[in-house]
Amino acid sequence: MIEIRDLHFKYHSQTDEVLKGVNLKIKKGEFVSIIGPSGCGKSTLCLTLNGIIPKTISGQFSGDVIIDGMNTKDHEVSEFSKKVGMILQNPESQLFAMTVEEELAFGPENLAVPREEIEDRISWALSIVNMENKRDEFPGNLSGGQKQRIAIAASLTMMPEILVLDEPTSQLDPIGKREVFSVLEQLHKEEKMTIVLVEHRTEPIAELSDKVVVMDNGAIVLQGTPRVVFEKVPILRELGIMVPDISYLTYLLKEGGYVKDIALTVEEARRLFI
Ligand code: ADP
Repeated sequence: MIEIRDLHFKYHSQTDEVLKGVNLKIKKGEFVSIIGPSGCGKSTLCLTLNGIIPKTISGQFSGDVIIDGMNTKDHEVSEFSKKVGMILQNPESQLFAMTVEEELAFGPENLAVPREEIEDRISWALSIVNMENKRDEFPGNLSGGQKQRIAIAASLTMMPEILVLDEPTSQLDPIGKREVFSVLEQLHKEEKMTIVLVEHRTEPIAELSDKVVVMDNGAIVLQGTPRVVFEKVPILRELGIMVPDISYLTYLLKEGGYVKDIALTVEEARRLFI
């Protein structure tokens, strides 16, 4: 679904490349999380996935980003808006309509989708984010978690195949974070959507991801299943990445020869001792 080949990018205003030869393949339906220190290029990488880089934000760009067979160099950003939904940190910046319904209708209306189908898409999207009862609400009155769920629903009405989320819960309270992660879990498991998530908290990553990609200084330094990646505690610590507490505890026990594997969840840890 996504193939990135030897991707280099430098913003015009910077002296150094921000992406320094990124190679990455993401399969259809895969949930991939990207972690890494602040400033290592995660957001920049996200912006290459819908062609914003290099089409809208220009710079020195080389390599290829191929989305479902389409090279981003050869197509306009608008063509990717139907394929790739992009969700950013701040839900406020993504909502502008007077009602939830208008917010959700905006994208498909612009594509001249027939009214009846727009209605179906709105009902479907609201049911996924579990907000059917907020259809007529003013988005400004919703909680942070609800706003972000509406931003996700608005993106879903474009029927994208890929959802890219750049730290979507960083400005939300714990309840809001949980609500958003539960929507992502449903989109992955039930709708089989391809999901790319930038997130710095490793607990939800361990629970949700098929693959974890670790970036440092514009390059991918490690990738694999959460288990493979979160076992590499010393490398991650050096990058300032804390693995989930339960993984760290079981890593220490594994190093001491007490258990055979690390655990990603408390439930898994419990099984290690039976
Ligand atoms: P991350 O998401 O990992 O924190 P970013 O991709 O946001 O990293 O930023 C990587 C580097 O690129 C940083 O040094 C940042 O200052 C720089 N950068 C990000 N956006 C721009 C921009 N629009 N113009 C110039 N430099 C930018």
